Amino acid sequence: MNIINPATAEIITTVQEDSRLSLDKKYSLLKAEQLQWSKKSLTERLAVVHRFYDLLETEKERLAAILTSEVGKPLQQARNEINGARTRIQWMMNNGEKYLSDEWVTDTEELKEKISYDALGVICNISAWNYPYLVGVNVFVPALIAGNTVMYKPSEYATLTGLEIEKLWRKAGLPEDAFKIAIGGKETGESLLDMDFDGYFFTGSYKTGKYIYEKVALKMVPCQLELGGKDPLYVADDVNDVASVAVGTADGAFYNNGQSCCAVERIYVHERVYEVYVDAFLKEVQSWKKGIPTEDGVYIGPLTRGEQLEVLEGQVNDAVEKGALLLTGGKRGEGKGYYFEPTVLTNVTNDMKVMQQESFGPIVGIMKVKDDKEAIAMMQGTTYGLTAAVYSKNFDRAERILSQVDSGSGYWNCCDRVSAGLPWSGRKHSGIGATLSHQGLRAFTKTRGWHIRS
Ligand code: NAD
Repeated sequence: MNIINPATAEIITTVQEDSRLSLDKKYSLLKAEQLQWSKKSLTERLAVVHRFYDLLETEKERLAAILTSEVGKPLQQARNEINGARTRIQWMMNNGEKYLSDEWVTDTEELKEKISYDALGVICNISAWNYPYLVGVNVFVPALIAGNTVMYKPSEYATLTGLEIEKLWRKAGLPEDAFKIAIGGKETGESLLDMDFDGYFFTGSYKTGKYIYEKVALKMVPCQLELGGKDPLYVADDVNDVASVAVGTADGAFYNNGQSCCAVERIYVHERVYEVYVDAFLKEVQSWKKGIPTEDGVYIGPLTRGEQLEVLEGQVNDAVEKGALLLTGGKRGEGKGYYFEPTVLTNVTNDMKVMQQESFGPIVGIMKVKDDKEAIAMMQGTTYGLTAAVYSKNFDRAERILSQVDSGSGYWNCCDRVSAGLPWSGRKHSGIGATLSHQGLRAFTKTRGWHIRS
């Protein structure tokens, strides 16, 4: 399998994909190791995770350079991702004991009752490329802490990072057979679905997620899905400083070239502040440095996948044909790599592709609305439900609006944000189940209720 540098569209290296035979062998080793790993104390398992956490810091520069070379994100954003992953791991280490230890619920002379959290067994993690460290640690770290062994399939667009993650675990002292990487694309994923894992944890698109969910259903094991989004943001008419809201929300839409599951993908602005907001937003977008992701100060680099360029062109054409105004961008950028100009469309309507399909690129539609009621109807108007944001001076107003939008996360005066202490979950086509928070630690366990009569 060729590994491509999206900044130049050139091959960096070639790696050997796994075959069904090699995957079977890895699975047997993971299975044989699992009992021993789960028998280790939580303290011992946490010590390994701590060394992994330390290695992410000491090897950050090298890891960030590898990440940038294969996914094309600006180098500083690659460093930020590793820092973010460490913050999440820290939360998991601090809270592992609290949420995974036995929980006594009744303690009388005659009767004692407790809940224990047993590991699922060998779990399969099929992952995405846009934040391989962040979405990876959401799954494999709590899974290992809880006593599972893990088959980790990085996206074919983040294979080198997947290989580095495997090496880091070895260096951290994790038993060699507690974590294995499955190398390859769709076919490798398909093989994993044919095997007998004790749980499937998927991060990726709705289309693949739905397919996986249907296949895994027959196995009667947990299947958790972290899928795409079409995340809406509403700017109400009472915000204090419209221009600074525009600057902050532009970052929420374009960070990582818009390739975030929780990127702001649709913006609704109250008519009273619309003109000021659009002017400031456009100015901000046009101020960004574009170019090669290793160059200092570059904010917009190449997209990770060349094929996405066509999707974005299709969305722009569809919008313009239906009456949208193209304020900036709308076409491929210069250079041999997969560049697309940051694109802002106004005069959009909710039936346009750009307001319905996940763009996963540097493109956003901004729509004027007359009141909160219209904003709620628009925000609700897609099949997705990952996050939703409201900017307003008044929390009660924001809460009232957000509670009428079906989404796993609600943001007041912020957006494009994930916190280790809060569940990360999607509703509707954005997913099933949650990672992060206590829910995300316990997702990798099965509970047992103990009835103890003396
Ligand atoms: P994708 O669905 O194309 O691929 C995801 C993974 O599934 C890859 O490892 C791929 O090789 C594998 N795969 C593909 N077809 C398969 C099949 N038939 N059987 C088994 N495995 C298969 O998604 P992607 O392009 O890697 O990631 C982008 C998507 O992920 C976006 O929709 C984004 O919003 C979403 N995402 C969601 C979250 C979240 O937390 N909700 C986080 C990051 C990304």
